[in-house]
Parts: sequence; C-alpha cells; structure tokens
Amino acid sequence: MKHYDAIIIGTGQAGPSLAARFADAGMTVAIVERHKFGGTCVNTGCIPTKTLVASAYAAHVARRGEEYGFANGDVRVDMKRVKARKDAVSGRSNRGVEEWLRGLKNCTVLQGHARFQSSRTVVVNNEVLEADKIFINVGGRASVPAVPGIDEVPFLTNSSMMDIDFLPEHLIIVGGGYVGLEFAQIYRRFGSEVTIVEMGPHLIGREDEDVSECVREILENEGVRIRLNAKCISLAKRDSRIAVGIQCDEGPPEVLGTHVLLAVGRTPNTQDLGLDRAGVATDRRGYIIVDDQLQTNVPAIWPLGDCNRRGAFTHTSYNDYEIVAANLLDGDHRRVSDRIQTYALYTDPPLGRCGMTDAEVRKSGRAALATKYPMIRVSRAFEKAETQGFMKICVDAETKQILGAAILGTGGDEVVQILLDVMYAKAPYTVIQRAMHIHPTVAEYLPTVLSKLQPFA
Ligand SMILES: Cc1cc2nc3c(=O)[nH]c(=O)nc-3n(C[C@H](O)[C@H](O)[C@H](O)COP(=O)(O)OP(=O)(O)OC[C@H]3O[C@@H](n4cnc5c(N)ncnc54)[C@H](O)[C@@H]3O)c2cc1C
Repeated sequence: MKHYDAIIIGTGQAGPSLAARFADAGMTVAIVERHKFGGTCVNTGCIPTKTLVASAYAAHVARRGEEYGFANGDVRVDMKRVKARKDAVSGRSNRGVEEWLRGLKNCTVLQGHARFQSSRTVVVNNEVLEADKIFINVGGRASVPAVPGIDEVPFLTNSSMMDIDFLPEHLIIVGGGYVGLEFAQIYRRFGSEVTIVEMGPHLIGREDEDVSECVREILENEGVRIRLNAKCISLAKRDSRIAVGIQCDEGPPEVLGTHVLLAVGRTPNTQDLGLDRAGVATDRRGYIIVDDQLQTNVPAIWPLGDCNRRGAFTHTSYNDYEIVAANLLDGDHRRVSDRIQTYALYTDPPLGRCGMTDAEVRKSGRAALATKYPMIRVSRAFEKAETQGFMKICVDAETKQILGAAILGTGGDEVVQILLDVMYAKAPYTVIQRAMHIHPTVAEYLPTVLSKLQPFA
C-alpha cells in the first residue's frame, strides 16, 4: 500500500492549489481526477459560460451598431465558431491545470474514480492509497428533478450545453436562478427563442425583489419570455418538439420548445465516494457536514468547495483551500465565518453582490441606512450606452460599516469589490467618500451614491 502525506480527491478549485502548497512544503501528495482536470469552473462552469457571455455580448453590441455610429448589417452567429472559441479558452485552462499538477515535485497525479475504503485509505483503479490527511474536492453536478417524462426527453444540463454547436430554435430553461439566467441571455443573443420556467414568484429568488424585477425587465426587453409561479411538473415529446408541463394559476399549462435545459440546482458528487466507510457525516442532500475550519466529524478529512455547502462558487472553493492551508501549514487560524458573501450574476449588465440583502438587513433588526442610485445618472454608463440597472448600498447606522450592496449595472462585478474590501477592512463607508477615484468610471459614483443614504425603511 502506497503511503502519502496527503491525498486530494478531485481537481476543482481548491485541490490543485492545495496539492501545490503541500508539495512545495516537501510533503508527498496524490491527487486524483476521474474526469477533466480543473472540474466544473474550467470545463462546464465559469470559464466556458463567461466565454459564451462574451460572444453573446459582442453579437448584441454589433446589432446595436446604428446607436454607436456604424452600419451593422445582418449579425448572425456561427455557433460552430462560438463553440470552438469556448473550447479553446476552456481547453487552455484545463491543460494548464493538468500540466501544472504533473510538473509538481512530490505530487503523484492519478486518473480514476477515488473511493474511501476506510478513514485513511482510498481506492483508485484497484490500487489502495493511504494518507495522514485526505481532502475531498469533488464538486457537484446539475440536479435532475424526478418529473414524469424525464427519461423520455433528451434534456440538457450545463455540462451537455457545452457540446452544442448549433442554435436551438426554442430553448426552454427550467429554473430562473443564476445558471438559468446566464444561459437565457446568451442564447437569446445568439438568436434562439428562449423561455424561462421558474416556479417561484421571482427570478433569482434569493435577491431583493427590486433586483430580480430589474433583471427580469432587462431580459424581457431582449425578448426572453419568462413564466413565474410556474412549476415544471412534466416533460413530454411532441413530434420534434418537447413540451414542458407547468402547474400555474396564470398562462398556458404547457410550453413547447425544441430543447430543454434543466437549471434547477446542484447535487454534490458524494454518493459514490464511500463516505460511509470512512464514517464521514453528510446532511440529507449529501453535502458533507463541516465545522468553521472545514473539518468533518472524522479527524484528518476535509471537504473543500461545493461539496461542503459553505459556498457554491469558484472563489468560495479557492477560499476553502486558503483557510485549510493557513490552518494546517501557517498556524493562521482562519475560519469560514470570517468571509463575507460575494458573487456576481453574469448577465449583461452584470449584478455584483456583497454582504447582506435588504431583506436580510431588515430581518436582523439593526438600525441601518440605505441608498439607491440609477445607472442612468452615471456618465460612464451613459457614454457606453449601457444605462440599465442601479446601485444600492446598505450601511449600519451606528458603526457606518457597509452591510451589503447590489451593483446591477455595467461594471457591477468589478465595482462591488471596492465595497467588499472596505467591508473586510471594517472601515466606515466614509473612507470611500474621502478617496479620489478615476474619471470617468462607474466606481467614481460610489461617494455620490453614499451621500444619499437615508434611514432604511
Ligand atoms: C454553469 C455554471 C456557471 C458557473 N459560473 C460561475 C461563476 O461565474 N463564478 C463562480 O465563482 N462560480 C461559478 N460557478 C460555480 C463553480 O463552477 C464551482 O463553484 C467551482 O467550480 C468550485 O467547484 P469545486 O472546487 O467544488 O469542484 P469542481 O470544480 O466541481 O471539481 C470537482 C472535480 O472532482 C472530480 N471528482 C468528483 N468525484 C471524484 C471522485 N470520486 N474521484 C476523482 N475525482 C472526482 C470531478 O471530476 C471534478 O473534476 C458556475 C457553475 C456552473 C454550473
């Protein structure tokens, strides 16, 4: 039996960096990948989707040529070339991760499915490996709801969407969350008819209502059809089409399209990991239960990334790596609860979010001040002819620290990080008002936005 200082299962957004840290520290590491190096972000998530977002944005701007002063002709998207571009960008990262890992001294790269045999041993390709520490970075996959007809129709997920090199005539997207909305705008801009079927009363239901309403307007203005309060209850073939059966109070009980994308959430890849043999506890959805330093109930086993339910983003997975590496290698006792929630929705314009929503602030019962400023009054947005959206920020009335923000507008994914850094510094928002910012930018308006703080209603 081969012994290592550490075994890492999965090459998502935490595993490879952790492998490099351990290997650099002179420890022996085995890292195991059963499919594509780099995991979801690199192969079927962030990188390919944001590459598609860029193609869709280019097509959108080209169609608006007249507004910017050039003749635009008939803009048609060549899906084979769009896919080739996406594959090239994604492939570059995928190869980069593999080459990096294979080039690490002290690191053994194994390809195959890893399964626990005990709390200290893992089996890969019939070989038993043993380690003092085992890290699980197995990520997740698209959830597939058990609706009648699911086995009879050829549905798509974020993974199979990556193989598409043609334009679906009418794409029905089940799920109005972050993944669903990004694909909706991408494919609408490529030229498909798109219908979103969302069971809740709002898109991106975790956001404040004004945010989700504004995103809805943006998408509808581009021709995306949106069915809210519409629960997908069945799928069926109708000649060459697919029918999505809907339980709803308003509108037709069925949407007919040519393709169906399921974007109804994620399931952790933990069911085939032999966690029971290791004695590692999971919740009822299969997420591994961890404490504030990402330890499981079994000593020396740490799950990182999406599978521990402490975040479902590339940056949360990478931050998990940083926390574990700091605790184990640097004597720096970092905790998950020290991090501030932040993420972006990559529609155009994007939504950059940090901290609490208004609803969460309200629920907390604390005295707060809030401000909201339309992008139409931001000169940079005006110059770019991208004036949709707004910026809103909420601060604690006593400490003057920022509690949360939503920047829905051009550059929102970048601008929000200024607020995030001030939050980490635990500095009052007034710091931003004393700083000199670059003109013309969206960020230069933050002092103006903050000058309009009012008691939170
Ligand atoms: C469509 C889409 C778009 C997204 N866009 C963004 C975005 O813009 N920004 C953002 O921050 N996040 C985004 N995300 C989320 C992001 O991709 C994930 O949170 C991120 O990849 C972190 O995943 P991870 O590190 O947990 O593992 P993953 O990246 O999922 O990797 C897990 C790896 O483990 C391997 N594996 C699993 N089981 C085993 C086993 N038993 N043995 C060996 N190997 C195994 C898998 O093959 C995989 O390679 C997106 C997700 C999706 C689906």
